[in-house]
Amino acid sequence: MRPKTQIHFDPSTAAQLACPACLGNLSLSATRLICASCGRAYPIVDGIPVLIAERAEAPTRAEPPRE
Ligand SMILES: [Zn+2]
Repeated sequence: MRPKTQIHFDPSTAAQLACPACLGNLSLSATRLICASCGRAYPIVDGIPVLIAERAEAPTRAEPPRE
C-alpha cells in the first residue's frame, strides 16, 4: 500500500529535473521541489512540478528563533 500523500509525483523523477533558474539539482521536499543551488522552491500542483522561475518561491533564509 502506498502511504497517503498529496504528491503523485515520482521522487526519482526529481533527479532528472533541473532548476530553470540556475540549472541546479532539485530535491523533493514535502510539497515542493527545492533547488540545491539557489534555494528556490517550486510548487507541485496536482502532482506536477511547476518548474517556472517566476512561480518559484524565493529562497528561504535561516531566520533566528523568535523569542
Ligand atoms: Zn536554482
